[in-house]
Amino acid sequence: MRPARALIDLDALRHNYQLARTVSGAKALAVVKADAYGHGAVRCAKALEAEVDGFAVACIEEALELRSAAIGKPILLLEGFFEAEELALIDQHDLWCVVHSTWQIEAIERTHFGRPLTVWLKLDSGMHRVGLHPADYQAAYQRLLACDKVGKIVLMSHFARADELDCERSVEQVAVFEKARAGLAAEVSLRNSPAVLGWPNISSDWVRPGIMLYGATPFEQEQALAARLRPVMTLESKVISVRELPVGEPIGYGARFITERPTRVGVVAIGYADGYPRHAPTGTPVLIDGQPSRLIGRVSMDMLTVDLTDLPHAGLGSRVELWGKNVLASDVAALAGTIPYQLFCNLRRVPLVYSGA
Ligand SMILES: *Cc1c(COP(=O)(O)O)cnc(C)c1O
Repeated sequence: MRPARALIDLDALRHNYQLARTVSGAKALAVVKADAYGHGAVRCAKALEAEVDGFAVACIEEALELRSAAIGKPILLLEGFFEAEELALIDQHDLWCVVHSTWQIEAIERTHFGRPLTVWLKLDSGMHRVGLHPADYQAAYQRLLACDKVGKIVLMSHFARADELDCERSVEQVAVFEKARAGLAAEVSLRNSPAVLGWPNISSDWVRPGIMLYGATPFEQEQALAARLRPVMTLESKVISVRELPVGEPIGYGARFITERPTRVGVVAIGYADGYPRHAPTGTPVLIDGQPSRLIGRVSMDMLTVDLTDLPHAGLGSRVELWGKNVLASDVAALAGTIPYQLFCNLRRVPLVYSGA
């Protein structure tokens, strides 16, 4: 069998969830959209279910996957519904629903519900992606209250730049939010992972941690709380071929690396078709049988090459960590010009192997 696999540490997942709870002092929806950022939504949700206040997903397809797996805790649809027809399923499966646009309010008014709908009413406080305009927010709230279909309403907004610790934009967004919701006595949800970790003075009743659950930092720089996260995924494979090359030999596609010394090259069975970023440059860290080394040459679809020259005990069958507890996904991502979110979400073809269930 091909040795590439992703080990998923569910104890670490629970540790990170509890960290989100403790540092925020709030109720926390575990964000498990996009198949739990590539970690497997059903297994992650089951591992968390006993202790979570609820889950959040991007769409009804993701919510129904969880309900089919007998997950009974609240599930929030972060973009609500895309078509009014989804409201019947939202009602049937008792899902919580973000409302970000007036057309969604009109659709709710026209629908018959078997139970009161829980709405998370989203304000655009400055990210300018989805959410109601501040001038329309109070009217939307009153309209939902008046239509007799809605039970609870939670007031929410989302930060654009909470990962930038020296940027005051999040504070400005809070000011816009507070002004728009003045006088509305309802629970509030503002904070994603970077806001939970980096903006302790922004309080809210509910937080929505995503990336931090999976143990990756949302920040570019070191951050004390982020250092307490435990990486959940370890992406690993093995050395399947070894060769000794003299000085001046090219390695791999495009001859992007030329040996500068006599070099022992290890070929590892993992590539960009598994989600390892093709743009990771020579020098990107890897761990080989517990020893630090580096990627050399271009990443190909099913294989990549590493430097074994200084690791005389490494060879055929050596275990290679591409990211995980020792090689941080956030470091690999930064070198490849992306973020750990994308590395995790791009994971494919490799089996997920769980521990700590
Ligand atoms: C994805 C998402 C989150 C989680 O964001 P992280 O940065 O991964 O913590 C929170 N809220 C909303 C609305 C989202 O779409």
